[in-house]
Amino acid sequence: MSIVGIDLGTTNSLISVFKDGNVVQIPNSFGEFLTPSVVSFDEKGNIFVGKIAKERKITNPNTTVSSFKKFMGTDKKYKIFGKEYTPEDLSAMVLKQLIEDAKKYLNEEVEEAIISVPAYFNNKQRNATKRAGNLAGIKVERIINEPSAAASYYYVKTAEKQTFLVFDFGGGTLDISIVDAFENIIEVVAIVGDNHLGGDDFDLAIAKDISKQNGLDWKELSSQNKEKILKIAESCKFLLNIEKEVMVKTVVEEKEIEGKMSRKHFIEISSDIFYKIKNLLNKILRDAEILADDIDNVLLVGGSSNMTVVQDYIKYITNKKLLYNFKPDMLVGLGVGMIAGIKERNEKLTDIVMTDVCPFSMGINTRNRANEMESIFAPIIQRNTTLPVSRVMEFSTSYDNQREIVVKILQGENYYCSDNLEIGQIKVTVPKGPEGKEKISVRFTYDINGILEVEVKVLSTGQVKKLYIQSDDTNYSEEKMQKMMESLKDLKKDYKEKEEIIYVMELGKRLYEESMGELRQAIGDMIKQFEYILSTGDDFKIRKTYERCLKFFESIDESNNRDEFDDYILDEFMKEEDEEDGEEDDLDDFTSGYTDE
Ligand code: ADP
Ligand code: MG
Repeated sequence: MSIVGIDLGTTNSLISVFKDGNVVQIPNSFGEFLTPSVVSFDEKGNIFVGKIAKERKITNPNTTVSSFKKFMGTDKKYKIFGKEYTPEDLSAMVLKQLIEDAKKYLNEEVEEAIISVPAYFNNKQRNATKRAGNLAGIKVERIINEPSAAASYYYVKTAEKQTFLVFDFGGGTLDISIVDAFENIIEVVAIVGDNHLGGDDFDLAIAKDISKQNGLDWKELSSQNKEKILKIAESCKFLLNIEKEVMVKTVVEEKEIEGKMSRKHFIEISSDIFYKIKNLLNKILRDAEILADDIDNVLLVGGSSNMTVVQDYIKYITNKKLLYNFKPDMLVGLGVGMIAGIKERNEKLTDIVMTDVCPFSMGINTRNRANEMESIFAPIIQRNTTLPVSRVMEFSTSYDNQREIVVKILQGENYYCSDNLEIGQIKVTVPKGPEGKEKISVRFTYDINGILEVEVKVLSTGQVKKLYIQSDDTNYSEEKMQKMMESLKDLKKDYKEKEEIIYVMELGKRLYEESMGELRQAIGDMIKQFEYILSTGDDFKIRKTYERCLKFFESIDESNNRDEFDDYILDEFMKEEDEEDGEEDDLDDFTSGYTDE
């Protein structure tokens, strides 16, 4: 019995499985890998899913539903033939269809799945997705982020550490994320998105233009005629990838209509969409405080990333290498399939760690001097911290001659311990002494599989006690949990103890001593900035700042001809700082590359 991976998309869904060392995509009964996320009902009580339902959207627009993923986790109800359906119910129907296809294809039972969701999905939306899986009769082993899935597929295939800008442009949504793949850890560093921007908007812009060309008022058209024109508009969009100028036809009210479109005109009528794309790209760099330089390349994901004008535009704005080796519409699906393989502990796959966020805070009890009966919660791992994570804090004895410290391990967001959930306890003994003299360090290490390792150390005696706690129903053995935690040993190191960091700091300090004037100030600023970044504990920023410091310091150090060099280095350094502001791009400059011949 295999675990399947499912990309449950707004427009299209895919299912795959890991077999014989490879991700295998499972075709539907039409032999296609993409199953439209569309559900249609008829008066006899039949339910159609996928390709047939998509066709029925034209003939029966009022009893056919699509894009329900946008309302996952909300109270929205779709009323059809007197019955109400939630977005979960409809998603379950799509999932059921995919599972049926998989069972037929694999000729075995399928009971477990990993499903991908947008990185911005909150707990409610993730739980709704899990429930949809349960409604479809499968156990949802894990929910993973779409950009992580896409990036990890690329990362495993190429085995190259890199920071991706994942540009996922689907039918109705644009999700842009920065995903860092480094030493087998895949981390979503930043996300921005527009829930109302996608391939559908291009179709609509073209459809409106075709109506105008034929003297039809778009607003006055029936939903059926709209669907018809939208369908040829989509074909028009596809054809424009190959041809510079295209023509499409359909019949509306028994009259043949024709639509003509050039690439240039297409960009003009979709200028709004292009502006929105540009704004989102700028926003992610600004919000994440990331320099464009920190990004290695752009990973194209989603059906709309197949569009040549979109590719040209992203290239034009970002000036980065575009990764287009795998079919963009399949990439999330392939990634989830691979993660399903990792989950099955498939020997062929490296054990990559996928980061996630911790949905709750975890910490311990501390003394409340105002009310001895109610101890106060001290969080060690804060809610929404990226996982896996390891954090340590020190505490001291709270009264004279205290011999024993009882560390209560708590989970929750409340001020008083009693309002939080106690999930374990560790007792340690300490030598007698005045209040506050004896210290313990408490380290919490929490991994992606929901295992918490708590380590309490008495600083004066070196006594160490450990406890493993699992947060779900998996039941790992103590030995297995120890092994899983072993792989996180690097995380447990304090940054300031890492050799490469000590080295770059020492190098910086020496260069500071040896330099003068502006250069000296620039080195000082860099050291200060790095110290600040180190104090945040943000792995991604620390690594990127480390790389920048190293490059800057080493290039200074290598210079023999200092007089000429100072200016050069400083210019380069200033340039990087300036780039942060980003320049305004003009769509006109971009369109000028497209000529009407
Ligand atoms: P989602 O992630 O929203 O489920 P997809 O990634 O499957 O969606 O993208 C669907 C969108 O991609 C549709 O708008 C479709 O028209 C568009 N699309 C797919 N292939 C192409 C292509 N070759 N050229 C232009 N648009 C395409
Ligand atoms: Mg998608």
